[in-house]
Amino acid sequence: MNSEKLLASLSYASDETEFYAPMPAGYKPGKTKYVFVFGTVMSGLGKGIFSSSLAKCLKNKGLTVAPIKLEGYLNVDSGTLNPYRHGEVYVLDDGMETDMDLGTYERMLDQDLSRVNFATSGQVFTRVLEKERRGSYLGRDVQMIPHVTGEVKIKLRELAVASDADVVFVEIGGTVGDVENAYYIEAAREMAFEEGANSCAFVALTYIISPPKLGEQKSKAAQLGIRGLLAVGIQPHIIACRASEPASRKVMEKLALYSNVPIDRLFSMHDCDSIYVIPDMLRGAGMDDAVIDILGIRDRVHPENETRAREAWTGFIQRLRTPTREIRIGMIGKYTSVRDSYASILHALEHAGAAVEARIQVVWIDSTDITDATAAKALAEVDGIIVPGGFGVRGTEGKIACIKCARESGIPYLGICYGFQMAVIEFARNVCGLTDANSTEIDPDTPHPVIDILPEQKQIEGLGGNMRLGGRDVLIKPGTLAAELFNNAPETRLRFRHRYEVDPQYIERLEKGGMIFSGKAPDYPIMQILELPTSKHLFFFGTQAHPEMQSRPLRPQPMFHGLARAALVYADRHGRSQRPTSPAATAAAATNATAMQA
Ligand code: GLN
Repeated sequence: MNSEKLLASLSYASDETEFYAPMPAGYKPGKTKYVFVFGTVMSGLGKGIFSSSLAKCLKNKGLTVAPIKLEGYLNVDSGTLNPYRHGEVYVLDDGMETDMDLGTYERMLDQDLSRVNFATSGQVFTRVLEKERRGSYLGRDVQMIPHVTGEVKIKLRELAVASDADVVFVEIGGTVGDVENAYYIEAAREMAFEEGANSCAFVALTYIISPPKLGEQKSKAAQLGIRGLLAVGIQPHIIACRASEPASRKVMEKLALYSNVPIDRLFSMHDCDSIYVIPDMLRGAGMDDAVIDILGIRDRVHPENETRAREAWTGFIQRLRTPTREIRIGMIGKYTSVRDSYASILHALEHAGAAVEARIQVVWIDSTDITDATAAKALAEVDGIIVPGGFGVRGTEGKIACIKCARESGIPYLGICYGFQMAVIEFARNVCGLTDANSTEIDPDTPHPVIDILPEQKQIEGLGGNMRLGGRDVLIKPGTLAAELFNNAPETRLRFRHRYEVDPQYIERLEKGGMIFSGKAPDYPIMQILELPTSKHLFFFGTQAHPEMQSRPLRPQPMFHGLARAALVYADRHGRSQRPTSPAATAAAATNATAMQA
């Protein structure tokens, strides 16, 4: 039976058949191909970076791509996850709270994603249980196979319909052998069977260990990992060997023999200094071509598109690699030991740094013990500061002390979300004379609750689901720094994730004191951007949004770009123009960086 006939025969649910694979309306068999990326041996190998880099190679060739991350955990979204353990919660324009890998995809592909690009076991099971309650399974006992795996296939095909992509990139969370991801892997196997030949490319990411005492690379762990995939019916087409040093020919030959994968479909990937060079390395090694051959889509490739895309990207990498200056930005926070919780900010700084041809060194400043008396010393060496988003009480007074110091001494300041709220509190206390002004998140009994819970959130209780989330339009006040940063556009769109906001009854008082609210929501009196006049301060800027989630390598987010430019001016004024550039790449560049060698 050919795959179209097979697919047609599966398109119904009944108690007579073992199949359950309803096709979403509009699904065109054969139009969308699938690349599945599996982890073996261990997690933390940079599967998302790898998968997004491969997707970028295909996008460069003029193909439309759509990524999806399949998470094994039972949380319905990532909103309730602790950033200490899991890294930042990334918010998409439609308000979906996701794993930080979605940020990697958005940045690498320069593509806005939505909830169709993210699934968790919590979502999958919720849908299955809802259908069970509605009687959609026609009296059958509801099973992992075919119903739960069926739901995964529906999700993948829905993405194919929604994106009309040539290739859907499916990143399966965790590693083969994990109980919680097993049904995703089974769904991948079923997809390849149903969609037919040349429909799916299976890519296994593995790890070659080199025990220091032995002084040589060993392939056994990788063999066992691949065997784990073979045991569940997945014959990989491509194996990507992660390693600290280039994987040797000998080790790859051994792995080829044990895995039935021809040696030219094994690729060595070793650590490197920047994630942004990986797409070119994959291309140089021929992995993108291998995928195109496996999927039989060479006729969809546009080489001239690739030349253009690569030129622009190479320019970015050059600017990143050969900075002429160095500036230091202080990151003030309490999570400073967990850099993954600031991943998007680090990337946004890297993009802004490339745009101004400067290396931005991030200086981590723990605010817990900072006071008005010690702030100036803590900030003595930096050319600008960021107070990033956050929750809870700890470290807030230290942040406020740093903001006061930045405002009074002219250090460029960018306040993000909580950092915006802290700037309002500081200004209310020290400029407007509102003694003990605070946020009710920090002090519910404050005499001046300049930051308070959103009226529309007041009724909602519980942890999940009560934040203002996702993209919102922002009206920009003409003639302000915000207007300048956004090229005099009357409005822009920013992404939000907050529960508290400026209490409207204090706006007039704050404005009288000299604070400018240069970005507002069009529908409610919600203050979204604040600034001080540039005649008074080089760069004092804050936003209730999370602009870091919209920064892209070739399109640095304007607020970060503005901070970088101001930091350069500040460094000049303080005689730091000649500071040599240090060789180390920024933390963001090195995070999970992988390299590849043919
Ligand atoms: N805690 C603040 C609020 O809920 C800020 C949130 C944030 O920084 N993301 O509004």
